[in-house]
Amino acid sequence: MKKKSSLSHLFEYAGKFKYLTILSWILSGLSALVALLPYIYIWKIIKEVMDVAPNFNQAQNLAHYGWMAVIFSILSMLIYVGALMCSHIGAFRIAANIRSRAMHHIVTLPLGFIDEFGSGKLRKIVNESSGATETYLAHQLPDRAGAIATPIGMVILLFLFDWKLGLLSLIPVILAFLIMMTMTGKQMKQKMKEYQDSLERMSNEAVEYVRGIPVVKTFGQSVFSFKKFKNSIDNYSKWVIAYTKDLRKPMLFYTTAINAVFAVLIAAALIMTQNGVTDTFLINILFYIIFTPIISVTLTKIMFSSENAMIVEDALGRIDSVMTIKPMENTSLSILPKNNSIDLNNVSFKYKNSHTYALKNISIQIESEKKVALVGPSGGGKTTLANIIARFWDVTNGEVKIGGVNVKDISKEDLMNTVSFVFQDSKLLKTSVFENVRMAKPNATRKEVINALKAAQCSDIISKLPKGIDTVIGTKGVYLSGGEQQRIAIARVMLKNAPILILDEATAFADPDNEYKVQAAFNELSKGKTVVMIAHRLSTIVDADKIFVLKDGSILESGTHKNLLQHNGMYAHMWEEYKNSVDWTVKKGVCQYA
Ligand code: ADP
Repeated sequence: MKKKSSLSHLFEYAGKFKYLTILSWILSGLSALVALLPYIYIWKIIKEVMDVAPNFNQAQNLAHYGWMAVIFSILSMLIYVGALMCSHIGAFRIAANIRSRAMHHIVTLPLGFIDEFGSGKLRKIVNESSGATETYLAHQLPDRAGAIATPIGMVILLFLFDWKLGLLSLIPVILAFLIMMTMTGKQMKQKMKEYQDSLERMSNEAVEYVRGIPVVKTFGQSVFSFKKFKNSIDNYSKWVIAYTKDLRKPMLFYTTAINAVFAVLIAAALIMTQNGVTDTFLINILFYIIFTPIISVTLTKIMFSSENAMIVEDALGRIDSVMTIKPMENTSLSILPKNNSIDLNNVSFKYKNSHTYALKNISIQIESEKKVALVGPSGGGKTTLANIIARFWDVTNGEVKIGGVNVKDISKEDLMNTVSFVFQDSKLLKTSVFENVRMAKPNATRKEVINALKAAQCSDIISKLPKGIDTVIGTKGVYLSGGEQQRIAIARVMLKNAPILILDEATAFADPDNEYKVQAAFNELSKGKTVVMIAHRLSTIVDADKIFVLKDGSILESGTHKNLLQHNGMYAHMWEEYKNSVDWTVKKGVCQYA
């Protein structure tokens, strides 16, 4: 039932290649049937030899039979090659369709989702999961078709020759089949699941363990502090041993039964020939002795093919986890913002996997070209609010307007041309600095890119890079600090020159020079624009037109720096603390250098 569903699931991506995949099964089954024919010819050779014995020179058809065996072997192989060609074309097309459909879907998703999911994980799902279906479709399924066709052909042949012997040779096969069923039955499936779960837990703990190595080293602890990892290994080994032990007996009986066809046949032959041997009987039993080894090979093939089906099911599940995420809502309207103001009317927002609201009834009006700052304790909702304005997420309730137009009614392109953002973990691509900056405006000239880099205070970065702006980021020996990466990202936004800016100030800088330059770049970038800044160092926002203090998803207070100090609320308290920490840093600096 499950296998069928994952197959129909795969076919949803197949289009007309579905027929090619089905053709591959038919050809593979046919190839398996043709592969039985050489056995008949080999048996015919033995029969003729026995018929004419001891006058072997009377045998006339030996060469003919021999050639027929060869021809059918080759024919079977050729049909199989044809089957594999069809199955591979189908498999690659289906994998390509999964990738392309997943990618098309991903671009319709809210940007916040991609951020939250992690681009690495997304890449892994799209690439590896679609890859996992390839082996299944290209090899496993056609092989299974062959593995099913062989016993059917065999049963027909076995009964055609001597139904009594045919029936006898089937007894161990049926026994083996029954044992195999117990091995893949419900109870075993449960065991298999527990085993898989413990394997997964162990891998997760291993990742945690590797992540924690710096902590262990720093604090001089022993690896035994990773009790959870050790427990997960113990647990895993417990399951493996239990699972193996449970399989020991059935596997023993299965292997014995599947290889016992000879024993049954020979015992039967001995009983049947108690009253003398007839030539026909002897020749027929020879046929069975030539033929029956295929049984064990085929059954074993069927047994192992179910393993791969589980991997495919899992891969399709992962792809589904992406495909079932709802795309961004888009109306057919495409209205241009009238100006560069931002309005939030009664906005509430809840993350999908969260019980509480990250933003609660927020109403904010920001006029064109005003600079506002968002401050407050960590987890207060600053990032969420900034993301909502850039439409990384759609609001749960209320509305966000840009230039008087609901963001949902602005086309994606127009919105991106109106709003730019610089977040802390600015992502640079593995390409040249020039290309990284030009991404924002593909038709920009080299001069424009250089000017943007200059305005973003990147001159010192460029001069130290081996090939200047043509240096490829991420290549050996090219290292850019977080602040430097952020400055290049600022240059990118500078080049785009969108009228509304969302900035997330970096929390920590490696050195004061970098801090100064990023600040200068921000100032240059902000000129003449509407700016929403998530501020961590309060000194940068004393001149802001308005400051919003966010706590637990609500605006606690708002006003200018001066107003808020007079109000003597949370902001005044934060300012006091900030001043103390700065004093402390300065004093510490003095001490160090004294
Ligand atoms: P701030 O930027 O002020 O530190 P955030 O906007 O990051 O605050 O977070 C606001 C609230 O939303 C916090 O309670 C946080 O735990 C929650 N939150 C943030 N991101 C997610 C997410 N991707 N999924 C679920 N909850 C989230």
